Amino acid sequence: MGGVLAYADKVAQACELVTRGRELAEDLGGEVAVASLWGEGNAEVYFRCGARRVLGLQKPLAPETAVEVVAEALALMTRSTGAKLILISSSKRGKELAPRLAQKLTAGCITDALAVRVQEGRIEAERYALGGSTVATEVLGGEIFVVAVLPGKYSSHEDFPASGETTLLEFTPPSSPLRVVERRPKAMEGVNLEEASRVVAFGRGVKKKEDLALVEDLARSAQAEVGCTRPVATDLQWLPEYRMIGLSGKRVKPEIYFAVGLSGQIQHSVAIQGAKVIVAINSSKDAPIFKYADYGIIGDLYKVLPKLSERLRALKG
Ligand SMILES: Cc1cc2nc3c(=O)[nH]c(=O)nc-3n(C[C@H](O)[C@H](O)[C@H](O)COP(=O)(O)OP(=O)(O)OC[C@H]3O[C@@H](n4cnc5c(N)ncnc54)[C@H](O)[C@@H]3O)c2cc1C
Repeated sequence: MGGVLAYADKVAQACELVTRGRELAEDLGGEVAVASLWGEGNAEVYFRCGARRVLGLQKPLAPETAVEVVAEALALMTRSTGAKLILISSSKRGKELAPRLAQKLTAGCITDALAVRVQEGRIEAERYALGGSTVATEVLGGEIFVVAVLPGKYSSHEDFPASGETTLLEFTPPSSPLRVVERRPKAMEGVNLEEASRVVAFGRGVKKKEDLALVEDLARSAQAEVGCTRPVATDLQWLPEYRMIGLSGKRVKPEIYFAVGLSGQIQHSVAIQGAKVIVAINSSKDAPIFKYADYGIIGDLYKVLPKLSERLRALKG
């Protein structure tokens, strides 16, 4: 049927796609190649993750290159390799890139895939449906397929020989009506919730912004990062959106997750299922969060949190 071409802005994500791409390429009767557009020189890493070919550009793209130009470069690489399946990381940029590339290749396209597989010669992908309450299997039609897979869904394995073929293609970037006039870093305060080993997340059970001090105290005692539900970030705007956990925010996989005064609706809970231990504190015994919790405390957070923080401090001391 054909091979697989993998692409992600970040090397670690590209490696995940390459390793999965290699398995899929075997099912499709082809090989996996990886697109390297920025001249970053990671060919050896990609070979070790399973790539047979690394495709680069004679003149690497500049970092601020518009997504539509990236899509054009990937279309060229797809045609050059004859790949039938293009795997892209479903990052913010990847989600914009995938449909643009699909349009250029007249390909079927799925973004935010949780899994991708070859089933009886067809490409199938799983993604959340009905607001995250279920997982749907979608089948792609057509001859070429672009699938953007959520980062972290597959692991990379560096088990393969560190050698393969490198090809540099000639590419003339098309002129773009978009021009980057300025870049401003987001104020991220060094938070990486997705990688945090401990998270204290809270919801609308916290009544006033000043009461955040209670949550922060627990986070300090547990040496955890603070996260929140969507209403806290978007309606109340007590915390920036990069601290929001859920379908529309970050997915977390900590060793321990404290869910404080949050109901645990599916759109939130779907993103905490990678947590090893979930501790829920909620005044309502019927709160859905207790379905996911390993430990549940039915109680008023205003009474529970000070005691819990004190206990944790005593354990450390
Ligand atoms: C398409 C879509 C996407 C969404 N994406 C997200 C997302 O990414 N993330 C997200 O979080 N939500 C998301 N939502 C919203 C989600 O459905 C819920 O509405 C939201 O998670 C509820 O937030 P909450 O738990 O803070 O508030 P509530 O549902 O109001 O829950 C508050 C909880 O606090 C408890 N409580 C009250 N007082 C106390 C107290 N004193 N002590 C202890 N407990 C107390 C209550 O019993 C209740 O369970 C999305 C919704 C849609 C439709």
